[in-house]
Amino acid sequence: MDEMQINSFKQRLLQLQADLMSLSDTSNDAAKTVGLDQSAIGRLSRMDAMRAQGMAIETKGRREHQLLSIKGALGRIADGDFGVCLTCDEDIDIRRLDVDPSYTQCILCADKE
Ligand SMILES: [Zn+2]
Repeated sequence: MDEMQINSFKQRLLQLQADLMSLSDTSNDAAKTVGLDQSAIGRLSRMDAMRAQGMAIETKGRREHQLLSIKGALGRIADGDFGVCLTCDEDIDIRRLDVDPSYTQCILCADKE
């Protein structure tokens, strides 16, 4: 992979990171909804509010996991070992990284798990 390709992955990762961080501000509010005064929930019943809260927490967890992967990928870019499979040390197919630059394994290793 040349420097330009790595740089474009880096830009994508930084953009993704920024998007996820701005999204997590809104979802923090959603996760806090239950427990507030009923009027704050509006027309939602308490059950609906709890279901919405559960989903918000789940989404938040997924987002935090994604943020960690992105951070890891940015760290590997800084260390110069971006695009190398963490399991077998082979290069990860660039088309695979194009789908998600935060992948840490080549397709073969990912398939085995
Ligand atoms: Zn591998």
